[in-house]
Amino acid sequence: MAPPRCRLCDKAAHRVCAQCKLANYCNIDCVNLDQPFHSLLCTDGSDNSRPAFSELKRPAGDVTRCIFLPPDSDYPQWIWLPLENDKYRKQTMPKDHRVDELMGEGVDYTYGHIHNTFARRDHRGNIYVYTAFQREGAGLTVNRSVRMASAPHNVELLGPVLVAGSRDLEMDDFHIIIDHLVTWRTGVKGRELHPQVQDAK
Ligand SMILES: [Zn+2]
Ligand SMILES: [Zn+2]
Repeated sequence: MAPPRCRLCDKAAHRVCAQCKLANYCNIDCVNLDQPFHSLLCTDGSDNSRPAFSELKRPAGDVTRCIFLPPDSDYPQWIWLPLENDKYRKQTMPKDHRVDELMGEGVDYTYGHIHNTFARRDHRGNIYVYTAFQREGAGLTVNRSVRMASAPHNVELLGPVLVAGSRDLEMDDFHIIIDHLVTWRTGVKGRELHPQVQDAK
């Protein structure tokens, strides 16, 4: 297995988040820089209202760990979704009826594939981002958790966002997902995605 990389700047990592032990960093500067973002999904054992990342809470059966970005809360959530083999798309996907429930009754949605997502981190698999059709006046509100997680770019998407993989999503995937949403909606990419990292050097 490759040695851990800093989840913010990709240098060799020598520190791990003391709380969730799932996020690696090169030094304390990157810990502090990432804190506002990382704390959105870091396991907080003292707060039962926030779903934990823990494997102990994995439901029985064929499930995958996903990230749900609710429109009406500042906090993204870890969730478990049942998987099924999709014979049309020839891959494992979350069950449609569970996705329907999360996206909301009567909401038209689509999903997009994040390309080359795992090349950077030695991961394999596919990630799908489910988003509502961007229709003004459809009763959808600006997604608060997406706007919060994409600061300082403050992406505005209407309605819920669900991110599901053909395997469990990890803490590092959260960065990749938000970077994808920022690039998609604002065109900002590459080194410009994290100007605060460069400022710190
Ligand atoms: Zn770093
Ligand atoms: Zn953490």
